[in-house]
Amino acid sequence: MEVPFLSLKNITDKYSAEIHQAVSEVIDSGWYLKGQVVEKFERHYAEFIGTKYCIGVANGLDALILILRAYKELGIMKDGDEVIVPSNTYIASILAISENGLVPVLVEPDIHTYEIDDSRIEEAITGRTKAVMIVHLYGRCAYTEKIGDICKKHNLKLIEDNAQAHGCRYGNKRTGSLGDAAGHSFYPGKNLGALGDGGAVTTDSGILADVVRKLANYGSGKKYVFEYKGRNSRLDEIQAAVLDVKLAHLDENNKRRAAIACSYIDGITNPEIILPDRPLAGNNVYHIFPIRCRQRDRLQEYLAEQGIQTLIHYPVPPHKQDAYKEWNERKYSVSEEIHATELSLPVSPVMTEEQTEYVIRKADKWK
Ligand SMILES: *Cc1c(COP(=O)(O)O)cnc(C)c1O
Repeated sequence: MEVPFLSLKNITDKYSAEIHQAVSEVIDSGWYLKGQVVEKFERHYAEFIGTKYCIGVANGLDALILILRAYKELGIMKDGDEVIVPSNTYIASILAISENGLVPVLVEPDIHTYEIDDSRIEEAITGRTKAVMIVHLYGRCAYTEKIGDICKKHNLKLIEDNAQAHGCRYGNKRTGSLGDAAGHSFYPGKNLGALGDGGAVTTDSGILADVVRKLANYGSGKKYVFEYKGRNSRLDEIQAAVLDVKLAHLDENNKRRAAIACSYIDGITNPEIILPDRPLAGNNVYHIFPIRCRQRDRLQEYLAEQGIQTLIHYPVPPHKQDAYKEWNERKYSVSEEIHATELSLPVSPVMTEEQTEYVIRKADKWK
């Protein structure tokens, strides 16, 4: 049996008729940027996340860059200020901070949740700290009450990187509505994916939303009037049309991911494999199903021989990358442990029961 990690083709095929219809309407309308389809998607997405505002942008990295840039324009942050971010995140979270002339301060994750360790945030705060960027990594909610309290106590902005967790819940709220602003990515492989690049910023702050919207439009809110040295970062009408179709099916697809994850958690009993915990009340949308294993590379090879495709998220931590040479000598031992042992099993919403059972059986047989 073959189990691909993620078949984008199968996901698109599932909604093929609706997507073709929506895209055709845009093509036939003759209006491709800054139109009603983006506006409608922004309204639907804000409603879904539970924020007052949503601004569609070109991609997830831009969403995070624009949030921080807006805080700089508003005089809330300045060059050299510090932003706390987890050391094991996908590098884009950190790039958004550097790009703005701000200083990323890496804080280790918790070895059980893989999310930022909230007991280590306060010791990282200095006089220059202006924000905490939490990342709902692998689709699991990283927010804790403690993080909210720390941000209040030290007057820090709380920014969410929600690129991997569209639809994830925290109590009766959704991630992307828990802090001051959130960046979302609609890269094709994300839980809510476009057929190309896309992203969004969500926030309850009208002031922030206004500045982000202008910055993404050359710094302009009114034609030929430029308030900021902005950039061009747009979500286009065709991608918005696709996203609007897929948004309506997001919860059902996330439920399917969680069901597969629960089958793995109940089914895999191999003592060599460390499993993530069961999701509590929707607090995990399993963008990725991360297991850990001492002999990760051997396990990956064995699964590949059985036709099961797995990936590593991520093989090299940000502080060991050439892009951050200045950090190469530092030691983040929890991150390093995760990067050395993590393996992602397929958990796509188009996986069948047979494929799920097959993965469990094969994983259990390995030693
Ligand atoms: C995908 C991703 C991003 C970047 O999104 P793009 O749309 O690819 O620019 C940022 N942060 C995290 C955690 C991601 O997984």
